Amino acid sequence: MHNIIEVDLTENIDIFKISCFLIPHKDGLVLVESGPHSTIPKLEKAVKANGYKLSDITDVLLTHIHLDHAGGAWCLAEQGAKIYVHPKGYAHLKNPEKLLASATKLYGALMDELWGTLKPIKGNQLFEVADMQILNINELAFTAHYTPGHATHHIAWQLANVIFTGDVAGIRLNNGPVVPPMPPPDINIEDWHTSIERLESLENITTFYLTHGGKITDCKHHLTQLKNNLNEYANFIFTHYKKQTPKPKLIEMFTQFSKELLVKNGGDSEAMKSYESSNPSFMAVSGLWRYWKKKLTTENQS
Ligand SMILES: [Zn+2]
Repeated sequence: MHNIIEVDLTENIDIFKISCFLIPHKDGLVLVESGPHSTIPKLEKAVKANGYKLSDITDVLLTHIHLDHAGGAWCLAEQGAKIYVHPKGYAHLKNPEKLLASATKLYGALMDELWGTLKPIKGNQLFEVADMQILNINELAFTAHYTPGHATHHIAWQLANVIFTGDVAGIRLNNGPVVPPMPPPDINIEDWHTSIERLESLENITTFYLTHGGKITDCKHHLTQLKNNLNEYANFIFTHYKKQTPKPKLIEMFTQFSKELLVKNGGDSEAMKSYESSNPSFMAVSGLWRYWKKKLTTENQS
């Protein structure tokens, strides 16, 4: 059994739950997910509380380059860490202008407060990881599983019988319902199902660590609910894409629909608010709308 230290980067901060994970090895720490730039002070505090310094983080394993997962990686590179990422995310971390611009477009005035900023990571500290590649860091061996669907540049990291699932296994707050986060531009339902099947096919997995939700041990039930909710969301938007329901109206309807789905899955009214901030309706609508538009346009052309 490996010692995995979960750090809640957003405890007492008014943004949705983001965790990262510290795993000690003989020369320091591996960090899975950096969290955003804005929560680096929280990370530093947790690292110190465990008897280490920030510069003891030798390796940072990113699940994907969305800013809540990877936005702080450059700070750790500045402290000497090596950063591992999917090839599709590599260029964006090396030259982050585009990533910063698209996030600023999405988050507007909230950008600074939520995520902070991005700086380039030097090529000699940034590494692309292949599918199924095994990363040996002293006594630790991590396997990279390409898991697109939420993002094309997504990796779930396996360490023995544990998987750090990033966003591919969804969001789950306080052991409540599982919700798939649906931001544009990469959402792909078929790919997401294939990725879930891949997670299901791995033998002897006992634990998921969700970036938005932490430790989960009922992995099978968790994935079953995720698959179901993925389809529920996708079908709801499909119906309205066909009808070309105006966006503002659709966002309102989706908010209601997703609340009802949460209740059906056992969520309470307190949970609603945190889920809405973790997977905002405007973002889910726009992510799924884009998915259907792309899919149906391609199908019509062929
Ligand atoms: Zn994400």
